[in-house]
Amino acid sequence: MSDLLSTRSFPRAIVHFDGDSFFASVEQLMNHELRGKPVITGGERGAATSLSYEAKRMGAHRGMSMREIKKICPNAVIVSSDYLSYSIYARRMYAIVRSFTPDVEEYSIDECFADITGLRQKYHMPYEKITQMIQAKLLADLGLSFSAGLGPNKSLAKVASKFRKPAGFTSIPAKEAHLYLKDVWVGSVWGMGGSTSLYMQKLGINTALEFAQQDAHWLEVNKISKPYRDIWTELRGGFVKQLNTASDDSIGSIMKTQTFTPPSSDRAFILSQLARNIEGACMKARRHGVRGRTCSFYLKTQDFTYSGLSLELSLPLADPREFMRLIEAEFDRVFEEGILYRATGFTLRSITADHAIMNDLFGDSEKAEAKGKILTTLDILNHKFGSNTVHFASSFTARKDGDAHQEMRAKKSRPRINLSIEKRRKSLNIPYLGIVR
Ligand SMILES: [Mg+2]
Repeated sequence: MSDLLSTRSFPRAIVHFDGDSFFASVEQLMNHELRGKPVITGGERGAATSLSYEAKRMGAHRGMSMREIKKICPNAVIVSSDYLSYSIYARRMYAIVRSFTPDVEEYSIDECFADITGLRQKYHMPYEKITQMIQAKLLADLGLSFSAGLGPNKSLAKVASKFRKPAGFTSIPAKEAHLYLKDVWVGSVWGMGGSTSLYMQKLGINTALEFAQQDAHWLEVNKISKPYRDIWTELRGGFVKQLNTASDDSIGSIMKTQTFTPPSSDRAFILSQLARNIEGACMKARRHGVRGRTCSFYLKTQDFTYSGLSLELSLPLADPREFMRLIEAEFDRVFEEGILYRATGFTLRSITADHAIMNDLFGDSEKAEAKGKILTTLDILNHKFGSNTVHFASSFTARKDGDAHQEMRAKKSRPRINLSIEKRRKSLNIPYLGIVR
């Protein structure tokens, strides 16, 4: 009987998952010291982008300036956005939901839609239970909580996920939609722009329910255009908005640069500087469980001109030796004898998560896997004894030089306690990120 009901209420069963305080939660997950504290992201723009519940409880909200926040929440920990890390967690979220159904739309960095129609037979449970099972899996595997909404279409699923935040679950069957929509302001419905909601108010429409209750004639008379007619249909329980299930596997890029003084025209020294950047970028990729297939490097001259090249591997890797081999072979296309250089840079691109990589036909990935064991050992040693305890010989010259500079800088720097977060931020340089919407 409950199966029958479920089928009638959900001719299509669409789920929406929305990360709770996603960026701030990822920060707390990555840094134990931030747990239980009011954490606010968006430090680089001076306004709050995401707030932990501890911060929200104190009255801080999104868009508030950091100055206002410090007034009402003096112990707030303000951090700069770390979109690379957020997007890596986003990819993991999509992958977990995809393990239940292939029909997943990566809607934003902390939201996705999933079509779970027909899964009741497979799991022998109603759609409500399936949704909660996925929600529990997200919490267990990621350590991040998501609010979940179930509806007969994307619009109602999105209304539903907003109902009980954080970590809540709401199901809106088509027949019960009116019970939920009566308290929803029409302007807060997904897809309703600011000007449309103003127009609605002019027409005397304040709630989503009042909009849904109008008839087709009313839509025509008031010249309601197609996108809003679609919303109207969905609020009434119909299914219009398809899921866009194309997956975007690129996460962004990881860049490392290093300036050296005095400038140098020594080929071996410059190559060594580049090796150091390559090692740094690859180490970071491994730490995040990602790999890159394409890369680019550049040399910056004394008079600030740049020259560089983009190169491609046959498969995504996070092994600096492979990138070094590739770059050494092409290095002289960029390097010119007698020119003074002052910086090198390396960027890892076409990044994919480790779990997204399929074994290739010729076993290249397996060979790379075997080679990767030494990198795992290296990462463990560096984690245990401090970064760069162990590194490759190719970057030795650069490190000898760089360490002296770092010591000099350390002497001038502020107390250590302020450094822990800032230092981490500075090493993240993300010029472009594909999936943030
Ligand atoms: Mg969210």
